[in-house]
Amino acid sequence: MQFIEALKLKSKLFFLFILITLGLVAIGIMGTLNINSMKKNLDSLYFGSLVPVTELNEILQTYHSGLASTVYKAKNLELSPAQTSDELEYSLKKINTTWKRYESHFKRYEEVEYVEYVALEISETNKYFAKIIYLSLKEEDLRMISLDALEKKVSHIHTIMQKLINYEVNMARYERKKFLQEYDVKIMQLGIILLLIVMAVLIISYSVFSSIQADHTRLELMTKKLKRSNKKLENVSYTDSLTNMHNRRYFNLVYDRELKRARRTHSYITFMMLDIDFFKQYNDTYGHLQGDEALKSVAKILKNTLLRPSDFVFRLGGEEFGVLLTQTDESNSAKLAREIGDALRESKIPHSGSSVNEFLTISIGVVCCIADDALNEDLLISRADEMLYEAKDTGRDRYIITSNAFVAA
Ligand code: GH3
Ligand code: MG
Ligand code: MG
Repeated sequence: MQFIEALKLKSKLFFLFILITLGLVAIGIMGTLNINSMKKNLDSLYFGSLVPVTELNEILQTYHSGLASTVYKAKNLELSPAQTSDELEYSLKKINTTWKRYESHFKRYEEVEYVEYVALEISETNKYFAKIIYLSLKEEDLRMISLDALEKKVSHIHTIMQKLINYEVNMARYERKKFLQEYDVKIMQLGIILLLIVMAVLIISYSVFSSIQADHTRLELMTKKLKRSNKKLENVSYTDSLTNMHNRRYFNLVYDRELKRARRTHSYITFMMLDIDFFKQYNDTYGHLQGDEALKSVAKILKNTLLRPSDFVFRLGGEEFGVLLTQTDESNSAKLAREIGDALRESKIPHSGSSVNEFLTISIGVVCCIADDALNEDLLISRADEMLYEAKDTGRDRYIITSNAFVAA
């Protein structure tokens, strides 16, 4: 069944269709052949035995009621000579035509000799009745006919004919028995062949179905794999390769979603904008590679400080980071902003180029408010930006927080 495996789904279904059609055609042919052969058997039984028996009985009947009874009546002067000859001629003709018809049927080898004998006897007996016709035509006295001779003739032909009838009846019985035996064998053969066809169709159909099912499972596995690799790709596209944090692309997605949710539920939303202080100088002092390491350290501190699943941390670009908090009030937001600044300072990353501290520090602008319909995406970001610049302006290494998302009057 390996070749089934190699087929495409469409070809497999087509193969199954052809197979079932062939199975049905085979069953149809088998049925027709058997019906034909049964018809043949019935024909041979009908024409080989039943019809001949009827013909022979008809001849015998004509000898008794057509010929013998006419002679009786003639002898008793119940019929005129003309009537007698007419009746006898008619019966003889009937016997001859019926016998010819009987002879024309197929004869078995073993019966040919007896049939010829019966033919001779019939012609002999008929000669006897022909003689009576002759006498009646000559208007001789038919009372002279010997009853004894008549009875002898009729009984002789009766015996001979009866023997032939018995033979034909026996043959009919034999044919029927043979037919029934053949019928049983044929029915058995037909049953076996049908069983084989049905089994073959079932086995091959099963293989086709299993193969389709295997294809389906393979397809499902491939789809799962594809989904997994899509997910991986998606993750890659949402991740910053240097810090392994979520990037700006992901920020856009989450920011939009969380802001909408907060607006809907009228709950707290906090956005922090973070920017490392004097980072240009840091790069200039320690080199770009060291700068990268410093960015990684800041990312680690952010991740370790913001541990709730609902806290989101992003690298927005360069040395700027973003933090998005939900369900966090102003005091808790301020506490977290302070913790970030403290943690970075305490990590003691030397920064000799900084004019605010000997270690690396960060400035943070925070907006924390209860979201309402008036709060739009740009507003929150620009307010956080303003707070950040305020932090920078007022000496860096600090956070500035506001609960008013709208520009102060
Ligand atoms: P300020 O305190 O006002 O923020 O001063 P600053 O020097 O940090 O400000 P500025 O925005 O002028 O400098 C940002 C620097 O960050 C400039 C750039 O060289 C550096 N930078 C940006 N992205 C990367 C990065 O991926 N790796 C490294 N090593 N440096 C980066
Ligand atoms: Mg900057
Ligand atoms: Mg900076």
